[in-house]
Amino acid sequence: MLTLLRDLRRLRRDTALPQGRPASIAIRHVDAGSCNGCEHELTLATSPYVDLQRFGLGVVASPRHADVLLVTGPVTTRMREPLLTAYHAMPEPRRVAALGDCALGCNLLGSASELVGAVEELLPVDLRIPGCPPDPERIANALLALLEPS
Ligand code: SF4
Repeated sequence: MLTLLRDLRRLRRDTALPQGRPASIAIRHVDAGSCNGCEHELTLATSPYVDLQRFGLGVVASPRHADVLLVTGPVTTRMREPLLTAYHAMPEPRRVAALGDCALGCNLLGSASELVGAVEELLPVDLRIPGCPPDPERIANALLALLEPS
């Protein structure tokens, strides 16, 4: 028993992550008004095809468990309040990622009267993932940067 505990302690010490590097990141995704193209690519990035989970990146159902708010689509007037509610429900420190050209304000979808605009018009954006839509590898590589010490 003591040998086992000693081995476990050694294993934990030998596999410890560098200081400041999070072991995992929980992502809450909000579709703020996309065409669903970005969602298809995000689904592939989280499927066994790319398998983001093996790097410690997982999509969670509640913003209360999330470290990162990942937003797709331009922000429509209807999605303004739900997006802000999700953001304010997240614990600090929280980060925001904008996925796709629409979320970055390229005006690909919708008319001006239906849109609030780019995500950064509402929230502080920490990570930008351009593309229409960005492919799963690009999404995965961008999200992996969140694991770097900030
Ligand atoms: S960036 Fe392209 S794929 Fe993504 S929501 Fe906009 S139009 Fe659709």
